[in-house]
Amino acid sequence: MNVQETGVATLASEIFGSLTFTGDAMRRHLPSDVYDKLQQTVRLGQPVDASIAPLVASAMKAWALEHGATHYTHWFQPLTGHTAEKHDAFLSPSDGGAVEQFSADQLIQGEPDASSFPSGGIRETFEARGYTAWDATSPAFIFKTPDSATLCIPTAFVSWTGEALDKKTPLLRSIEAVSKQALRILRVFGTDAGVSHVKTTIGSEQEYFLIDRRFFERREDLRLCGRTLFGAAAPKGHQLEDHYFGAIAERVMAFMTETERRLFELGVPAKTRHNEVAPSQYELAPVFEDANVATDHQMITMQILRTVAEHHGFVCLLHEKPFAGINGSGKHNNWSLATDTGVNLLDPREETHTNMQFLVFLMAVVRAVDLHGDLLRASIASPGNDHRLGANEAPPAIMSVYLGEMLSDILAQLAQGGPHSTKKGGQLHLGAHTLPHLPRHSGDRNRTSPFAFTGNKFEFRAVGSSDSIAWPNTVLNTIAAESLDYMATELERRSGKKPTPAKLEAVVKALLKEVVKQHRRVVFDGDNYRAEWHKEAERRGLPNLPTTPDAIPRLGTKAAQALFDKYAVLNPRELEARVEVSFERYNRTLGIEARTLASMLKREVLPAGLRFQTELGAAVSASEGVGVPCPDVKAQLRHVVAGLAQLRQAIAAVEAAERHAAGDAAEQSKHVRDKLVPAMAAARAVSDELEQFIPDDLWPLPRYSEMLFVK
Ligand code: ADP
Ligand code: MG
Repeated sequence: MNVQETGVATLASEIFGSLTFTGDAMRRHLPSDVYDKLQQTVRLGQPVDASIAPLVASAMKAWALEHGATHYTHWFQPLTGHTAEKHDAFLSPSDGGAVEQFSADQLIQGEPDASSFPSGGIRETFEARGYTAWDATSPAFIFKTPDSATLCIPTAFVSWTGEALDKKTPLLRSIEAVSKQALRILRVFGTDAGVSHVKTTIGSEQEYFLIDRRFFERREDLRLCGRTLFGAAAPKGHQLEDHYFGAIAERVMAFMTETERRLFELGVPAKTRHNEVAPSQYELAPVFEDANVATDHQMITMQILRTVAEHHGFVCLLHEKPFAGINGSGKHNNWSLATDTGVNLLDPREETHTNMQFLVFLMAVVRAVDLHGDLLRASIASPGNDHRLGANEAPPAIMSVYLGEMLSDILAQLAQGGPHSTKKGGQLHLGAHTLPHLPRHSGDRNRTSPFAFTGNKFEFRAVGSSDSIAWPNTVLNTIAAESLDYMATELERRSGKKPTPAKLEAVVKALLKEVVKQHRRVVFDGDNYRAEWHKEAERRGLPNLPTTPDAIPRLGTKAAQALFDKYAVLNPRELEARVEVSFERYNRTLGIEARTLASMLKREVLPAGLRFQTELGAAVSASEGVGVPCPDVKAQLRHVVAGLAQLRQAIAAVEAAERHAAGDAAEQSKHVRDKLVPAMAAARAVSDELEQFIPDDLWPLPRYSEMLFVK
């Protein structure tokens, strides 16, 4: 029901989770002992008790049928980076009639015909079996369209041999790895009472563009690649900063409202909406949740954004760089650790300097980013993100940590053997007596940092807008687990059994002092966009991996394999598969872009230019035929002819570079980066130049000034 029908809006809280099998729905449909057992799994992360599956399946079916569901599907996240689903009807013929059926087996395990998903060589087609396995920790949900309803069961996707073929399985393993190591730290500090596990919490802010569907339909690059491959800049970009946080246009608001309603029904806690920096760019942020559920919800969010946009005559572009020359889109991945009893372990309490445990967790993360910044960089590498990172609109490809003045000061004191004082966040005077004095967040704002501490969480800002957050968080969790392991091992070894508080404090201070000294180089509070920082980072020995082909190989090293293997997140073969898939994705994406570019330039831009050339030629003949010389028109004609000749050459260069296919995927990616990408940029430059003087009635494509400014 909407506002028009009733005069009042439905309360979000009334519809929240109405299409998910959680809380009320579960309690209504499940015997209480079964409900309790399932909660053990959901809340405490214990393995699901197989004996309850038949009752859960029948309860889920009953609930789904109430909502009109006709089909169910195991919903999973293969290495394509998208979600996958294959629907089966509940319908089962019986005695000449039919019944709705859904068994425990159908809930627990599925076998999609999975031979066509990328596996990076894990699953050869002769052993093409892949299994989906029920993830009881993420709620089942019903996906509705105007005339269908499908029960979606979140699942992991693994091979016949038990190897992870998806993004969820390693994420779940990494969550466990962090929990195990974090608990050891809590034990050292004696703060583990009642804590059975430590959760990874994630809140992921999504940026996106909305453009009118009519424009989308008329541009093959948007349809096939999700971004414009060429297009002259509009006279206006975001110079006036009039879009950011501006009033939301009505049609956009209608889209946002429907999106949020759909998300609420699916239990996704959408919280914040606003206009972003670039024209036609927006953001949606949820309330943070457990990493696994947050990741599923993020995938659902992207799907709902795309679907609902269509209802409003828009297309939602999730690509990292749909338009050159204006800001692209990212996904700010807010990340923290919390006990299952609700304590945020990255939240400093009162006197920060006495909060030894907080500092241990904080420094463990700093250490992780220093030691494994290259893996973090590799975790977000994609052709789309290559356009953003380092383009002075997004954090650079150099991974550094922003801590803010107060914490950096504490670090300096730690290096000296302190700390003795905490710089108080203090009061922020707003210069007007009518405004309240706000306590200043000690983690100040620094939008240029790729990895910023923002008061009680880290914000990994370099994640691409179209990417699944599963992989970056898997890598982040794994490197954090390694560091927490190191800290725990050192603390346990140095403090011995039952240390006195004084002893423990001395041990912690000594360890922190060492870690600060060794890893402080990764902390940078200044402007990450400045060229000086890039030089400084090089001096500090921080890796700068500007492109995907630079970054991906870091995940293929023996050291990386040992790390992922040690924490049981991915075995070497599973990790190698991800490296392979990343290279393939890079090469294939750019291959598609190159062919689309060449084809559009040949079929649309060249003919338009030729028509203009003909018009100018006709104008010259007509003019000179009546004895009026027209040197300017002639000059223009020559300019057009020369431009078109350049364009033909540039297209040929793109096509030649695209055809090259020697070497393995890694070698090809270097060719793509060094030859194909520059050839595409050169062709684009020629076309963008032509676009600026080809008349509107001959230019066949929507221009930037239309796509970005028509709402
Ligand atoms: P902003 O960054 O715009 O100031 P907030 O800091 O309030 O906004 O939060 C941004 C995102 O960070 C939100 O999605 C929020 O839910 C998430 N977030 C807040 N606390 C945590 C936490 N402890 N763990 C993970 N994410 C968090
Ligand atoms: Mg933020």
